[in-house]
Amino acid sequence: MNENPKSKKPEIVRAVESLRPVIEDIAVSLYKRPETGLNEVFASEKLRGILEGNGFSVEAGVADLPTAFVARVGTKRPNIAFMAEYDALPGIGHGCGHNLMAAVAVGAGIAMSRVLPPDEFGVSWTVLGTPAEETIGGKVVMVEKGVFKDVDAAFIAHPGQTNSVGGGIRWASHPLEITFHGRTSHAGGNPEAGVNALDACVAAYISIRNLRNHLKDSVRIAGIITHGGHAQNIVPDVAQMRFTLRSTDWRYLENVVIPKVKQCAEGAAHAVGCTVDFRHHEMLFRDTLDYPVLQKICAENFKYVGAELPPPDPTYAGGGVTDVGSVTWVTPAIQIGFNATSARGHSVEFADSTVTPRGIDAAVMAAKVLALSAYDIVSEPHLLDEAKAFLKERLSR
Ligand SMILES: [Zn+2]
Repeated sequence: MNENPKSKKPEIVRAVESLRPVIEDIAVSLYKRPETGLNEVFASEKLRGILEGNGFSVEAGVADLPTAFVARVGTKRPNIAFMAEYDALPGIGHGCGHNLMAAVAVGAGIAMSRVLPPDEFGVSWTVLGTPAEETIGGKVVMVEKGVFKDVDAAFIAHPGQTNSVGGGIRWASHPLEITFHGRTSHAGGNPEAGVNALDACVAAYISIRNLRNHLKDSVRIAGIITHGGHAQNIVPDVAQMRFTLRSTDWRYLENVVIPKVKQCAEGAAHAVGCTVDFRHHEMLFRDTLDYPVLQKICAENFKYVGAELPPPDPTYAGGGVTDVGSVTWVTPAIQIGFNATSARGHSVEFADSTVTPRGIDAAVMAAKVLALSAYDIVSEPHLLDEAKAFLKERLSR
């Protein structure tokens, strides 16, 4: 990006730096009081209070999630959102560093509201409180309930062991529970009167596993039998399985994989004379779209703040699922990674490292990168147009 003399970038960097005490306070207080998904009452209240104190209008409990919130300054468009996560893991506290994610989003949002007051610059700045990333995927619910309808772009930063601008595969996932219903009878006395739900279940399990041979490579199918009957002398009238079904393309998952899985189960049920029903016991998490234009902007801003950005690792296959994926399919969005620790993810050591000087420095750096990137897309509208065109093109495929 050509640095022009009117650029607000130096001012944005200073504004984020001046918010270091706020960033540290959020990181430390959430670390001390970790709360799991949908129980983030303290965290949600704390963040809302800080944002309100800085001139944001706050709506709590959006999308019927009590700990979700929208905090916004301004009414004009584009409306740029910084997404905060703040749920912890059972037993190990902030072992995924979501306390830092909250600190980064709030820091970036307040900094932008100060340097580019919304009415003067014809923009809005939003901080979205997105709870329960580790459990139900709060963002998936918020997408479905339309929270992102008037968001023009969304940014989020996740701590880890390296700086990154996304990349790697983040899978789409839509777990499925399959239940077979038959009829009990005495397994020894009158087996001919029973309809064996477990037989249907086992046959279905095998044919679902065989499906793998006739699907694209970019699919994962794994399952367990969660119920197989009550006693061996009773013909099982109910048998149940749970599958995790993943693909690198949510539409392939929905339009091809899941119908085929259901067909296998229906075929097995028919063969045995059972009935079968299906339930998605968890929501659809979409795969994550990587927006080249947003990746380029963020990469340049890592450079701008003097941070190292290792080249993407072409062998990295990811394997993870994130609720940010669903956001990327409704509005241009990017999740950057920032180097905050050398501890492994989901560990107590990781949690502890979030409140060290290195962890806080990293959060300040990440807040700068997000704020500067938001500045780029509002000051050069063709960049946002490019991101929107990319989404439109992907949706039309
Ligand atoms: Zn995480």
